[in-house]
Amino acid sequence: MDVVIDKNTYERRKEMISIPIKLKLDEKGYLDRECPNEQCLYKFKINMEDWENNVSDKEVHCPMCGHIDTSDKWWTQEQLEEMRNIAQNYAMSYLDKELNKSFKKLEKCSNKFIKIKYNPGKKITFINNPIGQSKEWNLDIKCKECGTRYSVIGSAYFCPCCGYNSAEDVFEESLDTIEKMLDSTLEMKKMFSESYGDDKAETMVRSMIEGTLGDVVSAYQKFAEMKYRSLSENEVRVNDFQIVEKGSELFKKITSYGYDKWLNDSELKKMNLYFQRRHVIEHNNGIVDQKYIDKSEDSSYSIGQRIIVKIDDAYDLLRIIKKLANGLNEV
Ligand SMILES: [Zn+2]
Ligand SMILES: [Zn+2]
Repeated sequence: MDVVIDKNTYERRKEMISIPIKLKLDEKGYLDRECPNEQCLYKFKINMEDWENNVSDKEVHCPMCGHIDTSDKWWTQEQLEEMRNIAQNYAMSYLDKELNKSFKKLEKCSNKFIKIKYNPGKKITFINNPIGQSKEWNLDIKCKECGTRYSVIGSAYFCPCCGYNSAEDVFEESLDTIEKMLDSTLEMKKMFSESYGDDKAETMVRSMIEGTLGDVVSAYQKFAEMKYRSLSENEVRVNDFQIVEKGSELFKKITSYGYDKWLNDSELKKMNLYFQRRHVIEHNNGIVDQKYIDKSEDSSYSIGQRIIVKIDDAYDLLRIIKKLANGLNEV
C-alpha cells in the first residue's frame, strides 16, 4: 500500500492491491500454456524450471504456429478464468471489510434523533486456491538446441524457448500420421457409414486416400528443401522438389548422388507417376489431360478419365519416400 500526498492539503490514499496467486504444477512439474494468437490458441505444457530459467521474457514461441510473444501472454483460458475468480473473491472480501469499518464509524455518530445499527451479513472470506493444471500429456519433447522440456498433444513444430524446428522430426511425424490414417481406413469407413450412410462414407474415404498422396508429396517437398539448404547455399524453392527429375538433379549437383542411388528404376517411375497423379488431383480435379499423359507416361488412362487412387498406391508412395529420405539423411 502506498500513500500519495496531494499538492493540496488533504491526503489521498492510493492503494495497490496485489493478490498472491500460486500456480500448482502437474505431477511432472509442467505448467499449462496457451498460444495468444487468436487463429491458433494451441495448448501445450512446459517444464516449470525451464520456463523460469531458460525462457526469455521477451520471446516465447508457439510450438504449433510459431507465433512469438512476450512471456506474460501465455495464460490458458482456464487459468485466466480461475484468476478472475480469485480476484473477484479477493475484491469481495476487501469491500466487505471496508464496508464494516465505515458502518461501524456511522454507528458511533448515532444520537437521540438518528440510530444507526449495522448488522454485517455473512462474512465473505478470501480463499486463494492454487490454480491447478490439466492432466499430464504423453508426448514429452526435449529441444535438441536448448534442452527445454515441453509436452504436447499431437505434434509440435517449434521449441517454445528458442523456436528451433527440426525438419526431420516433423517429416517423420507427418509420414507416421499418414500411415496411421491409412491403417484406420476400414474403421473410419464403418464410422462414416453409421453416421452418413454407405454412399457418403465411400466418397469420404476415397477423398481421404486421394488426399494422402498430396500429404506425402508436400511433406517430402518440405523435407527435401530443408535437406538441400542444410547442404548447400544455392537458392532453392520448395516447389523444385515437386518434380522428381528436377529434385534428383539438384541433389546430384551438390552431393554427386541422384535419387537413383537409393531407388531402383521401377521405384523412380512409380514415384514420378504418383507425383504426377497428385498434381492432376490437386490442380485439375483428378481429370486426366494431355500434359499428365506426357509427363507420367501412364498408358492406363485416356484424356478425360478420372484418376483413381487405391490405398495400396498410397502405401507404395509412402514406402518409396521413406526409402529415399533415409538415403538422403545419410548424405
Ligand atoms: Zn500458436
Ligand atoms: Zn529450444
